[in-house]
Amino acid sequence: MKLTFGRDHLAIPGPSTMPSRVLAAMQQAAPNIYAGPLVDLTEHTYQGLLRIAKSSGQLISYVGNGHAAWEASLSNTLSPGDEIIALVNGRFGGIWATVAEALGVKVTWIRSEGPSAIDTDALLSALHADGGHRVQAVLMVQTDTANSIVNSVEAVRNTMDEAEHPALLMVDAIASFACEPLRMDDWGVDVLVMACQKGLMTPPGLAFNIISDKVWPFHAKASLNTPYWDWKPRVSGELFPEKFGGTPPTHLLLALSEAVKMLEEEGIENTWARHRAHAECVWAAVDAWSAGGYIRFNIDNKALRSTAVTSIVTQNEDAKRIQEWISDHTGVVLGVGLLPEQGIDNSQFRIAHMGHLSPPMILGTLSCINSALIALDIKHGAGALDAACKVIAAH
Ligand SMILES: *Cc1c(COP(=O)(O)O)cnc(C)c1O
Repeated sequence: MKLTFGRDHLAIPGPSTMPSRVLAAMQQAAPNIYAGPLVDLTEHTYQGLLRIAKSSGQLISYVGNGHAAWEASLSNTLSPGDEIIALVNGRFGGIWATVAEALGVKVTWIRSEGPSAIDTDALLSALHADGGHRVQAVLMVQTDTANSIVNSVEAVRNTMDEAEHPALLMVDAIASFACEPLRMDDWGVDVLVMACQKGLMTPPGLAFNIISDKVWPFHAKASLNTPYWDWKPRVSGELFPEKFGGTPPTHLLLALSEAVKMLEEEGIENTWARHRAHAECVWAAVDAWSAGGYIRFNIDNKALRSTAVTSIVTQNEDAKRIQEWISDHTGVVLGVGLLPEQGIDNSQFRIAHMGHLSPPMILGTLSCINSALIALDIKHGAGALDAACKVIAAH
């Protein structure tokens, strides 16, 4: 006899849950790619994404995932031998920096271990030391999906302004877009890197850069630029063939259009607040489980915790046992633990609370984890579900 009969739940930080409306939007025959509704709807969707990003800039799209958006950001602005600074306090910032190195860019890594907040003092010193303005760009990740830390984009922008340094500020918002507060114009973000399968609730396959006007002088001399990745035709051209460098991903655009419509109906500030509330609910449960010290948050400082995903540390390989049990017995798939550099960390698991989620999905996931802790006889503090319910009740 099995208990799992309803829908399974993928509680991993991307791909995230796809709303029924998004799924339904794809149920149609191949649309005209030259003119008509798809063209209009794409334009409308892109304007919506710019509004959500609070950006007066331009949106560029690719058929691709987050890795594509990373490479696009670098190849459109840099040449081999150029210098950049990578602010790395998680796994994803490090991978982006490694991609830059593979392209022949000289990367100064400013690491904060722990994980701890980005070291803006070290950034300020590095920028002050660069009197000749050789550094072309500063790279940072808003939410590191592996360790679940959130970084202050504003703090990095303020540091760059304090140093009066003209480098581009490039931000990976793949996990944070439409989850964490983001104000591109106010925070002076020059290149935002995004993908569609996390906060944007769309099947994987769309990658984006949102750019400020400041990028064009960098673009003009970037010798890493190649025809396929070039921002220029994609920013101003027709849906077919320029915007995607070939055939547009028709049904992903239909899906994305519906997702953006849903976010705009909700209001992005409300979306951020909902993510915060769901995160608080998860944190209340983890707080309770942590009593006794056997289970703990990976990010101890609440101010540095992402509202999109929470990484939880157990003793030994209990995290792996929890993931296996909960998947087999309850149909919930949790995020695996990721080591800072590469590979899997069996002592950690992650709960995603990004995208299309409601209290029963969050409380259900927490309840199933609680069942796993009981079934596997893993030491944990009591009262987690009560604490989580109190957060929902308070709303
Ligand atoms: C998911 C993620 C990526 C990688 O995205 P892919 O679509 O898997 O290529 C990069 N950065 C962050 C912060 C992410 O969360």
